[in-house]
Amino acid sequence: MLNALTAQAPDKILALMAAYREDPRDTKIDLGVGVYKDATGLTPVMRAVKSAERQLVETQDTKVYTGLAGDPAFSDALSTLVLGADKPVDRLASVATPGGTGAIRQGLELVRMASPDAKLWLSMPTWPNHPAIAKYLGITVAEYRYFDTDTGGVDFDAMMDDLGRADAGDVVMLHGCCHNPTGANLTLDQWKTVADLLIVRGLIPFVDIAYQGFGDGLDADAAGMRALLAKVPEALIAASCSKNFGVYRERTGLLMAIAPSADKLKVTQGAMSTLNRLNFSFPPDHGARVVTTILTDDALRADWAAELEDVRSGMLGLREALATALRDRVGSDRFGFLAAHRGMFSLLGATPDQVEMMRRDHGIYMVGDSRINIAGLNDRTVPLLADAIVAAGV
Ligand code: PMP
Repeated sequence: MLNALTAQAPDKILALMAAYREDPRDTKIDLGVGVYKDATGLTPVMRAVKSAERQLVETQDTKVYTGLAGDPAFSDALSTLVLGADKPVDRLASVATPGGTGAIRQGLELVRMASPDAKLWLSMPTWPNHPAIAKYLGITVAEYRYFDTDTGGVDFDAMMDDLGRADAGDVVMLHGCCHNPTGANLTLDQWKTVADLLIVRGLIPFVDIAYQGFGDGLDADAAGMRALLAKVPEALIAASCSKNFGVYRERTGLLMAIAPSADKLKVTQGAMSTLNRLNFSFPPDHGARVVTTILTDDALRADWAAELEDVRSGMLGLREALATALRDRVGSDRFGFLAAHRGMFSLLGATPDQVEMMRRDHGIYMVGDSRINIAGLNDRTVPLLADAIVAAGV
């Protein structure tokens, strides 16, 4: 049986990490992997997470299974963080999942269960796991234009044109904030315009929110998505706690579905719980319980929010420093988009040859599409990257 297997394409980011490790230059810079790093290159355990874990060690008296949907307190706390206090409780179904990836996987399984012929519209470009999971599930993928390489912003007209060709019942994946890989995001008005188009064409939004708090702040990052959700009749939302709580390996996520009516809540919830049952039975609980502990304790929550705010403003400072360093070198605001982007990533707009030149000549490692992880920079390396970008003729 196993003889029939063929080699899977290696993960490009893992290959990049291996090449970085083997590079002997002490000036090398890793802008590849998609995790937050502080100025010393560490991905720290957040203070509030440590405190919550200590509390759990002391007070948790069983490790018995949770429900299929996970701990209801986690669903309640995280859905309020994501959707806001006026979330539609009478129409909101949710299941805890192994990370945001698990939420996307379970959400796409739900799409396939409910509407096997629906196409999934993905921004071009998008996080590669979106098309990979959809195609593996046999879901037809379509692409909408999103990024304007000339301006470094969103090509909103092109996006609306392409979504205007979607068929009723198709599903549209939207990045809730901090678009990966481009860093370019919709404005609040554009979110509302997208909502109107979805309604007119009978399309269903699937919002992937993996970086809430990394862009403009916890509520600001969710504002566009919430405005859209307030208008549309039904929606799916996949939330990840990996980045904003720094609990990557604990696999902590939540799939939410807003049902078209309160009558449909029970059957929607049942389908989602069943999909958990079929794929892994009970979702992981440790990260979820840590997140719940933080969100339901005023002091822990305030400390977590403060540390997250430091992370956010640090990345914003690096964005501004890089844009300024490039302005000084090229004498124009051509790279101003780097300061306008939000979140951990920006697409530089370099060609694969230029990306390779920066790696070979300067030891700067980024994904082949020229996505850089802003959190991989610090005050020392910002000028080095700016020099390399200019030398490569980006
Ligand atoms: N969506 C996007 C756009 C992401 O970038 C990520 C993380 N790389 C995820 C979802 C899911 O992350 P995780 O499964 O680690 O929670």
